Amino acid sequence: SGKQRLLVVANRLPVSATKMQNNEWKLEISVGGLVSVLLGLKDFEAKWIGWAGVDVPDKAGQESLTKAMAEKKCIPVFLDKETVNQYYNGYCNKILWPLLHYLGLPQDETYTSESHYDVYKRANLLFAEAVTKHYKEGDIVWCHDYHLMLLPQYLKQYNSKMKVGWFLHTPFPSSEIQRTLPTRSELLKSVLAADIIGFHTYDYARHFVSACNRILGLEGTPEGVEDRGKLTKVATFPIGIDANRFIRTLTLPKVQEYLTNLRERFAERKIILGVDRLDMIKGIPQKILAFEKFLEDNPDWSDKVVLLQIAVPTRTDVPEYQNLRRHVHEIVGRVNGRFGTLSSVPIIYLDRSLDFQALCALYSITDIALVTSLRDGMNLVSYEFVACQASKQGVLILSEFAGAAQSLGAGAILVNPWNITDVSSAIAYTLNMPSEERKMRHKLNFEHVTIHTAQEWATMFVRELNETVVEAQLRT
Ligand code: UDP
Repeated sequence: SGKQRLLVVANRLPVSATKMQNNEWKLEISVGGLVSVLLGLKDFEAKWIGWAGVDVPDKAGQESLTKAMAEKKCIPVFLDKETVNQYYNGYCNKILWPLLHYLGLPQDETYTSESHYDVYKRANLLFAEAVTKHYKEGDIVWCHDYHLMLLPQYLKQYNSKMKVGWFLHTPFPSSEIQRTLPTRSELLKSVLAADIIGFHTYDYARHFVSACNRILGLEGTPEGVEDRGKLTKVATFPIGIDANRFIRTLTLPKVQEYLTNLRERFAERKIILGVDRLDMIKGIPQKILAFEKFLEDNPDWSDKVVLLQIAVPTRTDVPEYQNLRRHVHEIVGRVNGRFGTLSSVPIIYLDRSLDFQALCALYSITDIALVTSLRDGMNLVSYEFVACQASKQGVLILSEFAGAAQSLGAGAILVNPWNITDVSSAIAYTLNMPSEERKMRHKLNFEHVTIHTAQEWATMFVRELNETVVEAQLRT
């Protein structure tokens, strides 16, 4: 085909693999923000390079999985258990993730030792090898996220003509946070090797440019960052979703069946919905405390409203996440104990993920979506909720610390999740909102979500990358 080839490199492939009894591989589309977004890519001949999420120590197994994945346009990178532990659980999840979300570095010296970073380097080299093996001249290589910050440099060292873009899906914090990181300079220099660097919001891009200035002494221009005549373009590309996929799904008979059941079950109650991975950044305890405060202050509402919280398990072998889970269970139990009756409880809390159709049904039946992230790169759940609300036209209560606040701020009720009273009042305000205001707010957000889609996001990023490379050639 005449489509441009695009190598999408991310930590995880969009499919996960499990080995079956007969040694064949079962491949499944997996859960997660980036995964669902990139399913919307249609204009390119895209191939995926990433970790399969499974340990395959034997050569024969690696070969058979590589073959099975090729049909899905996926190229697996094999990481052994120890590498996954130090690179993914260690350096990515214990150091970079909290840092990028303003939670700071861990105090625990085992994580600040060099060994995790060494393994991070090694893992990035393995991704680089997989890319160079499949690279053909003219291909675009799009690297994703904080897992692969060393990749742009490795790729450019291999071939300086390679078109390389890097996109960060998390926030980029203030330079005051970035500068605590022992590897602050190396990581910045490496991503600067890319032709273009993308962020969700203008603030993240600004923080990045200022970190390059303060930490590396490089000049920031309106276009990006300049180092001895070489410009790395820095730009903002707010991600979107494939809104039509959600809208279409709502018409399926299975979803209609879910909806009928949910309507019956919650006939007498307004539904407030939370859908989050069970992560510290999502502000789940703050959300429950705010709901508790709301129940305290609004006794008339106590049996007329329910909070449905889906807490998708994540990073379950990291102790901090186990503690968070215990903590959340404790406060959910307390609130239900305090405000529940023999016939109902105010919070329905699930430690599990939902299948896509059930999720769409839930988004659609909801009156209020409650997003209380303390920091969040974008937050796609808020987009997905809006896409599913054409008939109900419910309200989004959204943390001002989610990237989505920059794009859905006009229609949403923005809150500071740390301010329990603020969130509680927002719930009360929203439950009593006149339908005119509700519809007007929904309309603004619905337009945004259906116009600024994942396809548009990907198209813009790749177009800018192509143009940046042409401009750089003209300059030299
Ligand atoms: N999601 C899912 N199954 C669930 C609940 C959520 O696949 O049971 C998806 C949801 O549709 C969304 C993603 O998980 O696309 C969460 O993305 P978001 O940007 O909100 O947060 P992240 O988890 O990436 O931090």
